[in-house]
Amino acid sequence: MRRAKIVCTIGPASNNLRTIRALLLSGMDAARLNFSHGTHQDHQRAAGLIRSAASALKKKVSVIQDLQGIKIRVTDFPDGNIILRNGQELLVCPGRSASSDKCIFITYPRLLRDIKAGHRILLDDGFLRLDVLGRKGNGLRAVVAEGGMLRSRKGVNFPDSKITAGSFTSKDKADLLFGVFVGVDYMAVSFVRNAGDILIIRRWAEKKEIVLPPLIAKIEKPEALENIDEILDNVEGIMVARGDLGVEMPAEQVPVIQKRLIDLANKRGKLVVTATQMLESMTHRSRPTRAEANDVANAVLDGSDALMLSAETAIGMYPAESTAMMDRIIRHTEAESPRSPEPVFRASGRFSEAVADGACRAAHEVGAKAIVVFTRTGFTAQLVSKFRPGVPVFALTPQDEVVNRLPLLWGIESMRGRFVFASQNATAGRVETLDARFIKSVQKCVIKSGLAKKGDTIIFVSSSAFLGDPNIIRIQKL
Ligand code: PEP
Repeated sequence: MRRAKIVCTIGPASNNLRTIRALLLSGMDAARLNFSHGTHQDHQRAAGLIRSAASALKKKVSVIQDLQGIKIRVTDFPDGNIILRNGQELLVCPGRSASSDKCIFITYPRLLRDIKAGHRILLDDGFLRLDVLGRKGNGLRAVVAEGGMLRSRKGVNFPDSKITAGSFTSKDKADLLFGVFVGVDYMAVSFVRNAGDILIIRRWAEKKEIVLPPLIAKIEKPEALENIDEILDNVEGIMVARGDLGVEMPAEQVPVIQKRLIDLANKRGKLVVTATQMLESMTHRSRPTRAEANDVANAVLDGSDALMLSAETAIGMYPAESTAMMDRIIRHTEAESPRSPEPVFRASGRFSEAVADGACRAAHEVGAKAIVVFTRTGFTAQLVSKFRPGVPVFALTPQDEVVNRLPLLWGIESMRGRFVFASQNATAGRVETLDARFIKSVQKCVIKSGLAKKGDTIIFVSSSAFLGDPNIIRIQKL
């Protein structure tokens, strides 16, 4: 059983039933709908196909909505592109008019306020660079420092400037409402700089009485690194979004930043996804480079919960092959690399953490074949996952939305099932024990799933308040 999970970005190359089925069969655990591209109709179609294909294949899959945030772009060129020559001077203006080789329009209204002389403007993932010389009328005078072909609508980054515009745009608001309507399982928030960028979404949703799914902050700006603790305090997970991060920060810093972010998230018991260019060359070729295979393996060894494919599955020629390749690299890495004896996450005195920790230690001590978590909100399953147990974890939950959230968590297999209780303490309003026949039926399920066989030992665990006191860790022979 593979532990680290695979996220596939759905796009023109994969938004069809045949490919989504192939992705699921190749190892997709979560699908990302990237709202920087595509229409609501495209995303609704994708979500529908993902749910129906998963259900037909009896597989569980999470759907992640990725909000665009303040993605800044150049506007269209009448001929689709221009050539920028080193040393050439031009104007850079805020607005949505068509661009030309004399004046490039950029979709950032606060351009003149935030970008100063001496700042760099990076275009097309940092492949092209303009240096700002100063202001001229309604624009900025800039010189081409690194030229080349610039195509319409390419992304723009300002690594030296403080972007003061709010990150939660009106497009994000409309997209969020749509995502909630479609029933996405996670929401990824782009260009987060600080806790405020998350809290503004939470307050807006609260005012509108919208229940948000778990939020994943995409860490792709230097300011986010400075404010990582307060960001982690306010989200359920983070994504190491190496695409923009590697443009905004020197590329040589990204590997160590990745390791630090993964470690920090794990220590805080938060979900962490490593993303972008993991098998990039498979966008056009059927095999990855050796360096890409290494990158996937290293992201696993660093402790990622999940690894994400972007262009490979969204616009690539080999979406299923890329997923299958990632699946094989992860499986081999997990099977061959020695596991650290101590998990990075440590219980800190809370009952729930002690119970999850205890279950994982007990599994190790008694040589259990699996851990079965009874979880209503998914919280205990996430805690158990963070202790990185050496055995498969089977999470049983009565909640549909939790069943679909769990597949993204490291090492967790999820299943929907109604809990049956033996007795209730009506005065205290507390549930005491799970029904013995119910436990038997769960045991049968575990045997049927192949996780364990008759005579094997398994661990049952639950720390949720719905079980009242006491929390349970039960060591059980099948
Ligand atoms: C990234 O920048 O790495 C990322 C995941 O974001 P996007 O794909 O939306 O650019």
